[in-house]
Amino acid sequence: MTGEAKVPDDISSLCGDCAVAPGQGHDLRCDVARCPYCGTQRYDCLEGIGCEEGRKADRPAIWKGRWDTDIATERYGLAKSEIYRLIEAGLFVWDRDDQGWKLREGAE
Ligand SMILES: [Zn+2]
Ligand SMILES: [Zn+2]
Repeated sequence: MTGEAKVPDDISSLCGDCAVAPGQGHDLRCDVARCPYCGTQRYDCLEGIGCEEGRKADRPAIWKGRWDTDIATERYGLAKSEIYRLIEAGLFVWDRDDQGWKLREGAE
C-alpha cells in the first residue's frame, strides 16, 4: 500500500476544476481560480483582458475550499444573489492580501 496516491477523506472541499486542496494554489489555468490582484476570473487577466498585474502570474491563486463569493455572503449574512450586485456596484472590493471580497471601507 505504500507509495500509492490516496484519495482525500473529504473530496467535496477540493477545487471542482483542478482538484487542489484548500489552502493551496490552483493550477495556473484553472477555471475556478480568481486573480490574486483583482478578484475576477484569473484566466481573463492572464490573457490580458483583466488587470495588468494579473498577467504576470507571480502570485498563487489560493483555493479556500469554497467559492470566494460564498465565503463573503456567509460572512456578511447576504443572500447569494446580492453579492454579485454589491460587487458590481463597487460596494465590495477585492482584498489582495486575503484574496477575498470585503465590504468597502466607509460603505457600511
Ligand atoms: Zn482550481
Ligand atoms: Zn486581475
